[in-house]
Amino acid sequence: MRFAIVSDIHANWQAWCAVREDLRTYQVDTVVCLGDVVGYGPNPQGVLNDVRQCCDYILKGNHEAAAVGQLDLDIFNPVARRAAEWTATQLDDEAKTVLRELPLDLEAEDLLFAHADPVEPEEWGYIEKPTDAQKCFIATDKRLTFIGHTHVPEIFSLLPDSQIIQHPPSELTLQPGARYLVNVGSVGEPRDGSVEASYCLFDTDTQVIIFRKVAFDLAALRRDLRQHPQLEMPWFLKEHLPGTLPEKGGHALRVSQVSATRIHVRASERVRIQVGRNQKLTTTPVMASMAVPAQVNRETKSIPAASSQQRRVLWLAGSFFVLMLAVLTAAVLVYIKISTPDSRPQSTPAPVPGAAVAVLAQPRVISLLAKDAQLHGTALKRETNNGEVNIGHWESSFDYVSWSFNVEQAGCYEVRMVYAVPATASGRNIDLSCGKARLFHPRLESTGAWTLYQTLSLGHLQLQSGFQQLNIKPANRGKQGLMNLRSITLQRVAD
Ligand code: ZN
Repeated sequence: MRFAIVSDIHANWQAWCAVREDLRTYQVDTVVCLGDVVGYGPNPQGVLNDVRQCCDYILKGNHEAAAVGQLDLDIFNPVARRAAEWTATQLDDEAKTVLRELPLDLEAEDLLFAHADPVEPEEWGYIEKPTDAQKCFIATDKRLTFIGHTHVPEIFSLLPDSQIIQHPPSELTLQPGARYLVNVGSVGEPRDGSVEASYCLFDTDTQVIIFRKVAFDLAALRRDLRQHPQLEMPWFLKEHLPGTLPEKGGHALRVSQVSATRIHVRASERVRIQVGRNQKLTTTPVMASMAVPAQVNRETKSIPAASSQQRRVLWLAGSFFVLMLAVLTAAVLVYIKISTPDSRPQSTPAPVPGAAVAVLAQPRVISLLAKDAQLHGTALKRETNNGEVNIGHWESSFDYVSWSFNVEQAGCYEVRMVYAVPATASGRNIDLSCGKARLFHPRLESTGAWTLYQTLSLGHLQLQSGFQQLNIKPANRGKQGLMNLRSITLQRVAD
């Protein structure tokens, strides 16, 4: 799968259009925007509308949080603050609703995406030095993390000998045993001394990261900015000696220790999109294309990250202690029962130590059948095969199906799909969403024929209780024929 990762567009229409054009020359499957679509620049509403059309995922940046009142403007520098106040007046209500709901991070297999410091994205910390990167490497076990926020493209590599190296941007092939934190730079407000937009491409098959630099119409941006006196001419549009860089501390957030300010968006705004972490690759080969090779996974886990190993040891010790306590309690109860001559009627079964940890008392299954689905778009049809109904004729990205249903118990649900697709039409990805929860483009491998059905585990969704709508659509435009879809089941699993 090929990703394009863009960040910090900052309402710069000219830079965004240039990057969008540049993207057309690459066969990209998924475009992820790491936030700060708005702020500083003169065209927040127009850029946001277009970014929503072009990007598959948009994360929340500090400028989105500021524009919708989720961040105290007192921690912004005066330029960023004036821009944030002006931006808020330029966005319509729908845009503000969208911005308010944006998630703070996104996980996909061994990848993590966030706007700022990925450890606590709602604190908006800056990753600028190897010591900052080290905290991220310790706190997560992701092999590859993409961030923005500083507007400076660069790479931090954690080598197998625990050394962290900070590199300037260059084409990079991921090495086994190493982990990476990649800042994709800024589309709309470069602070690396250049006057060009930055963004990144990453191919999960070749494991290559490419940094792109794209020129855009500076004169047109200057003209647009001059129409709005509330907005400042950014550093890169001013006169400078060649090779000079903006002063450090030119960040939107004034405080040096952002995490110490305790200013952040409400905890409820933090949304984690779980991307099939528990897929069993050996039993569902269909998901293999989404996975980073198993060899890499193993080596990643063996990297000497002292504190994560210590955590694992502590966790194991804790689990062992709890288990021993449970066994001991059970033994004492059994002993009391045996040694009490006048024991009460044996109506309750003896407790099974540890059983409650692994098994839910009442597993919940929600079945969503083709016959009950709502069909959207123009082409989708219900067909009957061997007495079972399926949905076929997916011809464009406007063709999607949905089910509305009630979730009685919030929690983690495994999503399984029964579908059929022949080899000639296989290989497309689907997009499955349910409220804020989404699955990251599962790929549909061949089941052999349009009439041969298989069950595929797509991953796990965190569902809220209450009425929900689940949507399935083709993840990308293009070839005809997606699948014959028979049903979806959601089974609650232990969190
Ligand atoms: Zn920014």
